[in-house]
Amino acid sequence: MKLPSFEGGVHPPDGKALTAEKAVELYQPQGGELIFPLLQHLGAPCSPAVKRGDRVLRGQKLADSDAFVSAPIFSSVSGTVKDIGPRMTIPGSLEECVVVENDGLYETGPDLLETLGLSRPAAPEEYLKVIRAAGIVGMGGACFPTHVKLAPPEGRVIRWFIVNGAECEPFLNCDNRLMLESPDILAEGLQLCLSLFPQAEGIVAIETNKPESIQTMSLELERLGDPRMRVAPQEVKYPQGAEKMLIRSVTGQEIPPGALPADVGCIIVNVRTLYQIHQALTLGTPVLDRIISVTGDVVVSPGNFCVPLGISVRELVERAGGFSEDPVKVLAGGPMMGISMRSLDVPIVKGTSGILALSERSALLPVESNCLRCGRCVEACPMRLVPSNLDHLVRLRDYTAFEQAGGMNCIECGCCTYNCPASRFLTQTCRDGKAAVTAERRKKGAPKK
Ligand code: SF4
Ligand code: SF4
Repeated sequence: MKLPSFEGGVHPPDGKALTAEKAVELYQPQGGELIFPLLQHLGAPCSPAVKRGDRVLRGQKLADSDAFVSAPIFSSVSGTVKDIGPRMTIPGSLEECVVVENDGLYETGPDLLETLGLSRPAAPEEYLKVIRAAGIVGMGGACFPTHVKLAPPEGRVIRWFIVNGAECEPFLNCDNRLMLESPDILAEGLQLCLSLFPQAEGIVAIETNKPESIQTMSLELERLGDPRMRVAPQEVKYPQGAEKMLIRSVTGQEIPPGALPADVGCIIVNVRTLYQIHQALTLGTPVLDRIISVTGDVVVSPGNFCVPLGISVRELVERAGGFSEDPVKVLAGGPMMGISMRSLDVPIVKGTSGILALSERSALLPVESNCLRCGRCVEACPMRLVPSNLDHLVRLRDYTAFEQAGGMNCIECGCCTYNCPASRFLTQTCRDGKAAVTAERRKKGAPKK
């Protein structure tokens, strides 16, 4: 039976076999520096809450902001604040960071619920406060603060609370392993979230290439015996896990440009985000660690590792046995939406789901040629855009026309680039176009000097 799905999309080779069977390995380094960028989310950057020389505990707040759309940052180790200053981050830019020298003791401070003077577990009316205090953001990569997402605008009735376990990005297995190894936490987390939205169904959406996760999560939801919760298997198609696509596949609802999921009655969170919600509400634990797939054909022992935030990509790669040969490309994330890294000496942050290192044999390094007008990019675009036209407009620097053609609705999924026989850098030009329009909007909104 064909499952309902969105239009467009592609079927790249999934590469998941390298780590699909690898159980999550806990790795806690016993020393060295951990680096915590002050901006790991969409919204206002944080300001340091510590100073150089301070002793900090695991779970102690390092930085926060008064802004509503923001999320605090916590130390994932115990140790000493060694520096506060600019450091290189995954996208290759210098960002303000707190640097902590790890003492290897993992001495933990008071939990959040205790600090906030709340009961354990927290009462539903305190959920958003705890989720904000725990620094929870969309850990599928979007990094949007979760307390904002769980507070839909007045008057919106939430009918579907969707847990995104699609993990459509090739090579990655961190969500898959989490569903296999912690289904009880996820099921209970979903039940807690549903208490905020009494009219909602709780749906865990998983692509059918993860049959064990589908079965495990189904059994766990059954165990809780709550008829509002179920698993919804999804067609294997990239980008099934993109928010708008998954909402379309699960509910049939289309989100108009500029609208929010809540406008069509949906809230959608990634499985790791749900895990963190559970840990915060029941144990008072903030975001300290995450699971990362370290994979690719040049990684000696690909695997899934649960690591403290702030450790360097280099250390993580060494933990996976290092490289068998020099990679030509190392990405933070998967091959479709991952960010190409210039250095391994950058910290893991809340939104990092994988490290993918590829040899020249497997990293496609195409040479661009002229557009053939074949239309394959249009067929692939899940946002129903005309990527070849957007590309043309960006190259002309006609950003007004780019905007009018819907360029700002591009979700940078990479389907057009993947499908283009002329190897046009379509996603990259769309990304550049969006950045130019955003910069222009900021300039217009900026106060006159
Ligand atoms: S134009 Fe944007 S949304 Fe459409 S396929 Fe390309 S990257 Fe994806
Ligand atoms: S897929 Fe590539 S070659 Fe074909 S129309 Fe789009 S940009 Fe041109």
